[in-house]
Amino acid sequence: MRCAGAVHQLQLYLDNRLTVQQTRALEAHVAGCAACQKELALLEEVAQSMHNLKFVAEPEDLTVRIMQRVALDSRRQRVAPRFSLLRLSLLELLTAILLATIATVGSILSQPSVRALLPFANGHDPFSLAFIEALQVLAAINTHTLILACWVIGTLLGVCITLLLAGDEMRAEWIKALTQRLPVR
Ligand SMILES: [Zn+2]
Repeated sequence: MRCAGAVHQLQLYLDNRLTVQQTRALEAHVAGCAACQKELALLEEVAQSMHNLKFVAEPEDLTVRIMQRVALDSRRQRVAPRFSLLRLSLLELLTAILLATIATVGSILSQPSVRALLPFANGHDPFSLAFIEALQVLAAINTHTLILACWVIGTLLGVCITLLLAGDEMRAEWIKALTQRLPVR
């Protein structure tokens, strides 16, 4: 018999569930094997301490206490703040619309082909001339910087719009999450 087989049978041996033949073979192996003797001693110890375990009596009012906790918990949940999505003040709504308009107009006007289709800002009125001039001045400085600036502004506008539409509770959560992620001062 090998150790692997013996170890498998040790618990059955302690439970008296081996045949006489199996028991003899196992005892013969264990008698000459220090590792399996150790394993058997360990299992006996575990069995002994399991035997010594006393069952804890449950308190008589256990059910009542559980039900009280459940009731308390559901009451607490009802008090917890609920998110009021899309319950915006008029000011929040108007600001969101304004920002969205700026972002949309900005992205439209930055495309010459789209600009040409518009009745305004198509290159023949003072507004568009001023706009194109400003664009050219900015582009002359550094095209990459301009594109980056537009991207950053667009992203910030998007974040502002999202936060405006999210409502007070979501904003508070967002700011809390943000401050938690800031490096410790
Ligand atoms: Zn062994």
